[in-house]
Amino acid sequence: SHNNTSLNTLDKTHFLHPFTDFKEYKATDTAIYTKAEHIYIYDEAGKELIDGMSGLWCCNLGYSQPKINEAISNQLNSLPFYNSFFQCTTDVTVKMAKALVDISPAQFNHVFFTNSGSEANDTNIRLVHRYYDLLGKPSKKIFISRHGAYHGSTIAAGSLGGFSGMHKQYTGLSYVEHIGQPNWFTEGGDMDKAEFGIKVAQELAAKIDELGEENVAAFIAEPIQGAGGVIVPPETYWPEISRICKERDILLISDEVICGFGRTGDWFGAQTFGFEPDLMTFAKAVTNGYQPLGGVLVSDKVADVLSADGGEFTHGFTYSGHPAACAAGIATIDILKNDKVIENAAADIMPYFQAQLRTLESHPIVGEVRGMGMVAALEIAKNNSAKERLAPDCAGGAMVKTHAINHGLMVRSVGDAIVTAPPMVCNREEIDLLIARLTIALDYTAKHYGI
Ligand code: PLP
Repeated sequence: SHNNTSLNTLDKTHFLHPFTDFKEYKATDTAIYTKAEHIYIYDEAGKELIDGMSGLWCCNLGYSQPKINEAISNQLNSLPFYNSFFQCTTDVTVKMAKALVDISPAQFNHVFFTNSGSEANDTNIRLVHRYYDLLGKPSKKIFISRHGAYHGSTIAAGSLGGFSGMHKQYTGLSYVEHIGQPNWFTEGGDMDKAEFGIKVAQELAAKIDELGEENVAAFIAEPIQGAGGVIVPPETYWPEISRICKERDILLISDEVICGFGRTGDWFGAQTFGFEPDLMTFAKAVTNGYQPLGGVLVSDKVADVLSADGGEFTHGFTYSGHPAACAAGIATIDILKNDKVIENAAADIMPYFQAQLRTLESHPIVGEVRGMGMVAALEIAKNNSAKERLAPDCAGGAMVKTHAINHGLMVRSVGDAIVTAPPMVCNREEIDLLIARLTIALDYTAKHYGI
């Protein structure tokens, strides 16, 4: 047990964790991890867990990538830091910009670097407002986003996001509006998926029309909503969203912070769903999570306007394009490319993972299994045909998560959804082990509820 160790005491005494109930965590043990290898994490007592969350959706290549470590340490030895503010930058920063452009869809030839996904989404707002100012359309200010979206934690990114719990704790931006998420399991009713996808996308058109096209700047969304519970939209959804954005002259921003770098089976989720965004947010897996790096890929449509007129874009971070982070990013992209990690995973381990997880659909407390590529969720429900909660307050989902962790599998619960997004470098035996540990957690929970 972690109990009474000095690290635990220090943690409780000094560290305010993100997204944590400060009162509760002082009363409970915190897991403290000290080591990781391949797809496994280990706590101080040596207990091993399969990391079914790839860190925080970021270690897509797992924890044993010496080429990334080496790139970081070589960079620290040659040039540990220099800035990009003074009409200057570093060699690796430029090379990383080029590496990103090379793997991105054709419309993207520019990148703005940040340290995180949150800052990248703040940057999106600044870039888009500047774009419309330069175009002589300064009234186009409103961003439309979705309920359940997660775009980060700064005031701006949290406003874009659709978590009411976050909105309650601060005053959000006045120019952000939200529409529904394409969650067929909870909202679909009797509609088939295709019809439901169109209906939810139409909410965007209605919202733009209500606000006035001349006031709306952009729509931002995750190709698959991640932290909101892995909401995979019906196939009809994205083409309709894309059509509405073009028809009404508003920019489309794909937040690729979770989907990017292979998670959906392509470099970017927008490619998997077949739409062409004007801006793409990235972070997390761009460095395999080994260094903090984020940014915005900017399409020619936007970049051409931003660079046509003079005048400074008054925005940037000390660590924008940090050389150690860029070195990690170049090494990560090299591995993904040279080892054909995404193509190989898309051909084998991703379909295997999805198929094996779907065998759990017949489990008496699983209502739905959804997912794509290397990201999935199981909806915990009273029985496998009815959309009935197993227990009030999503206690069923919370219990499955706790049992999974106790039995050596790190997963996350979002309401009653059990979310898993393992590294894409795992093999079939490791997927089998993940499923076996998850099944134990489901069985324990079912038994607890007398099922
Ligand atoms: N966008 C999405 C889709 C995310 O999932 C996250 C983080 O989970 C963010 C943005 C925020 O990124 P960061 O935590 O690096 O600020």
